[in-house]
Amino acid sequence: MTQDRVVIGVDLGGTNVRCAGVDDKGRISHHTKLSVAGSASAEAVVARIVDCISRTMDGYGRNRVMGVGVGTPGLIIAETGTVVYAPNVPGWTDLPLRDILEERLKIPVEIENDANAAAIGEHWVGAGRGVRHLICITLGTGVGGAIILNDQIWRGANGAGGEVGHTTVIEDGVICGCGAPGCLEAYASAPAIARQAREALRAGVQSRLTTWCDGNPETITSAMVAQAAEEGDPVAQAVMHRAGTLLGVAVASLTNLLNPELFVIGGGVINAGDLIFKPIWDEIHRRAYKWSASILRVVPAALGDDAGLIGAARNFTLSRPSPS
Ligand SMILES: [Zn+2]
Repeated sequence: MTQDRVVIGVDLGGTNVRCAGVDDKGRISHHTKLSVAGSASAEAVVARIVDCISRTMDGYGRNRVMGVGVGTPGLIIAETGTVVYAPNVPGWTDLPLRDILEERLKIPVEIENDANAAAIGEHWVGAGRGVRHLICITLGTGVGGAIILNDQIWRGANGAGGEVGHTTVIEDGVICGCGAPGCLEAYASAPAIARQAREALRAGVQSRLTTWCDGNPETITSAMVAQAAEEGDPVAQAVMHRAGTLLGVAVASLTNLLNPELFVIGGGVINAGDLIFKPIWDEIHRRAYKWSASILRVVPAALGDDAGLIGAARNFTLSRPSPS
């Protein structure tokens, strides 16, 4: 890619679609964001994505845009650019998203899973730069996971590999959104952290969260739990400690399984700092092989909300290497 040309990176989330041009150094510009909340059909979401990409392309002039890389939630077949299903996008089942976007935009498109895209971004210009074997875990609405081995995304046999959030951490635990009991996501996602705080309050324990939520535990968010924990609230600290511990159980298991050099942990919850990172290390020391743990690093993500967008653009370039 010459310095002049860009790839449009697209990050589709549950509430917004975000687009920006990404140059060959991973720098972004012409950022555009459109709401997809309330879009009732597959077609409505596709139309918003096309609109968002078109606006960003117009910002550059179309002749400067080499192609489009999309990061989307759900199970993706990368080779065909098909979304097999996306639990949070209405009607997205067996959707040939790449073909649809190429047809409407008249430009080459590549599709990637959002967690994989974020990992590709962090590996390229973020916290995982220069690291060959790493695992990215993003604590958000769910617990996203992606595995990079030998500088390549590990997709598994039919595209569903890397689902760290759905590894079992409690044998007969809380039923996860995926339907299985005791997944990591059911304890360490942002909604799960809020839920566990609510449960503690309903059991009658005293906490500053009781005052903050004005007697209505339904209004408690993970950010409130993290804030209360930081201020020394024992209930909030116990919830964060449990999330960190179960995250550490998964991290230690993955360390023994794959011997990575690095875990990159992303999402708003990492602002809790040692409240999350210390229990992770406690479990690594309890459970992981000393040999594997001796070279291991666990770091916060570096690219924030832009990781998926940058990585989706990078995935386009990696999938379609230019002849030069
Ligand atoms: Zn699950």
